[in-house]
Amino acid sequence: MELQATNSTDLLVVGAGFSSLSLAYSAKHQGSTSVIVERKHHLWSPSTGLITPPTLSLLEEVFPFDIPIQRAFRSMKVVFKGVGEVLLSSREPFLFLLDKNSFFSAAREHLPHSFTLALGCSFMRSENETAKVQTSSKEMSIRYNVLFGADGALSKVAKSAGLPLVKDWLYGYEWSISRPLADDFITFIVDPSVSRAYGIWMFPINGETVRVGLASKKPLRREDAQSMMKQYFSFDDPLLDYKGGAIPISGPVRTPFKENVILLGDAAGLCGPFLGDGIQTAVKSGIAAAKALEQPDVGASYAQLLRTLGVTKYLKQQSTLRNLWDKFVSQSTLKRLYRFTLRNQDHLLDDLTTIKEDPSNFFPVVRKFFG
Ligand SMILES: Cc1cc2nc3c(=O)[nH]c(=O)nc-3n(C[C@H](O)[C@H](O)[C@H](O)COP(=O)(O)OP(=O)(O)OC[C@H]3O[C@@H](n4cnc5c(N)ncnc54)[C@H](O)[C@@H]3O)c2cc1C
Repeated sequence: MELQATNSTDLLVVGAGFSSLSLAYSAKHQGSTSVIVERKHHLWSPSTGLITPPTLSLLEEVFPFDIPIQRAFRSMKVVFKGVGEVLLSSREPFLFLLDKNSFFSAAREHLPHSFTLALGCSFMRSENETAKVQTSSKEMSIRYNVLFGADGALSKVAKSAGLPLVKDWLYGYEWSISRPLADDFITFIVDPSVSRAYGIWMFPINGETVRVGLASKKPLRREDAQSMMKQYFSFDDPLLDYKGGAIPISGPVRTPFKENVILLGDAAGLCGPFLGDGIQTAVKSGIAAAKALEQPDVGASYAQLLRTLGVTKYLKQQSTLRNLWDKFVSQSTLKRLYRFTLRNQDHLLDDLTTIKEDPSNFFPVVRKFFG
């Protein structure tokens, strides 16, 4: 889309990730004009794209095209660094790998007509219901009625509107490695020295490519990441096709709205503080925002709908887990977690999947560990 100097729009959405696309596909705004500005020249997400079955169902509800899945996983090897490892299996696939390239090209192709996508266009700041945006050749102004910040954990929209910012995040990194791997499972390494609750992962995409990643408390240099990967997975192959970003782990921001500005997804801290999973919550925030637009008080309705959709509860539970982890993590907790995982080897993945489906299953699972 070629932006005009006189642009004015009903909704201005910053960022074209899972949250904003879910808003666009859920909004029933006939006759109004909406613009999504995305600073990259293509649609993308820093995410690995691992989603649980309930998240897949949610995507199927929101998007009117087949959700492309690259791989389904039924097993995961969990390595408790320095303690032991357990191979877990589930009855049905517990994680699907979304084919993000195909997903984003379908999302772009089917984008509802009332939404216009401006790629290569960065939001800079906003004042008096006018946003300044920067394209490769010019700075421009866009007037809006409602502004949505769907621009990730380091949201410029939140900063510009004086809304609370995500306080704490992990640095997430991911690469491909060209390497044959016969494994059919995800390997997940729990090593509290690297990150508080998240970890290091590796999984095969096809017979020739492996994806490796980690979430770290501190920013890492590529050489350091390379040697860490070598240490954990014993390989020397070069890391290719880097992707990464901030993973919010401080939980939902106190107020995700102000007058006519609303924060979605990672910008509102809606990412699991323990697992670093944010696709499901980003999609739900888009759905909530679209519904809230039909109400007189958009901001307050949005916050209420996040509660109704279970987003707030799910994230609170993950915050509790992270706090417990931060407080008690030690070699003996790791040993305990290892024994717990071993004891529940046959049904743990199925149990964890049900937590996503119904957050009230959370406490029984946690009780099993601490009890
Ligand atoms: C390495 C890594 C792996 C992850 N793996 C998973 C996973 O497997 N499963 C899962 O559920 N979650 C995962 N997550 C978390 C998940 O990626 C996020 O929670 C989710 O993508 C949030 O969606 P969003 O729409 O809020 O933001 P994003 O998907 O981050 O989209 C934000 C968009 O805003 C754009 N943008 C930013 N600033 C501006 C600006 N100033 N102007 C215009 N555009 C801007 C960005 O380019 C981006 O396209 C992972 C995160 C990382 C970093």
